[in-house]
Amino acid sequence: MSHYSDEFETEALKVRRYAIGAFAVNTYILMHKESHDAVIVDPGGDVDEVVDGVKSMGAIPKRLLFTHCHIDHVAGAMGMKKAFPEAAVTYHELEQIVADNLLAQSSMFGVPEVEMPKCDVNLKNEMEFMVGRLQFVTFLTPGHTPGSVVFYMPIDKIAFTGDLLFRGSVGRTDFEGGSGTELVKSLKAVTKDIPDEVKLLPGHGKFTTMGVEKASNFYLRIDRYR
Ligand SMILES: [Zn+2]
Ligand SMILES: [Zn+2]
Repeated sequence: MSHYSDEFETEALKVRRYAIGAFAVNTYILMHKESHDAVIVDPGGDVDEVVDGVKSMGAIPKRLLFTHCHIDHVAGAMGMKKAFPEAAVTYHELEQIVADNLLAQSSMFGVPEVEMPKCDVNLKNEMEFMVGRLQFVTFLTPGHTPGSVVFYMPIDKIAFTGDLLFRGSVGRTDFEGGSGTELVKSLKAVTKDIPDEVKLLPGHGKFTTMGVEKASNFYLRIDRYR
């Protein structure tokens, strides 16, 4: 079964999105067109299909980036690490507690057990990092989980928002470690830090932009949330 859904290009990048598994988590392959340096964001499963995608694009995965470590976002992590051992597993240091909790998550969601490869790069808030010629800024955005992050690419004007911000909606805060107060704070911070024209690539559902969400997303206008 194919889950391939869509693809777009910016001046420097090619981005492909797969909506994978029962939770339709978005797995992204992001490749610098000239150097072919690539990252995979939230490998949620269907490893063979995504690996085929990487190969057909001619991408060279250097990192596995995780917006957070809920089981749907990491279900393909181990398989992807085996396929691309050079790709450094990268997530926020405050998310380790969620990565260590995968057994409980599998029984809670009634899905098979998942193993997480060890973290190679611990991120911190506002940490900037380069992957070849790709530039990322990490924003720590707790609320959905304690170590959820947004990966912002200021040059390319795109941002991976994970389960913080969806088109017309936001992530749940009722899982372990979630907090409505924190989520609202995180939303307010990213709307300040990320300009309106930036394309948002969420953890579930379709693309949007910061401008559209600021104009139409109810949750960006409230002061309190659950
Ligand atoms: Zn999640
Ligand atoms: Zn999710």
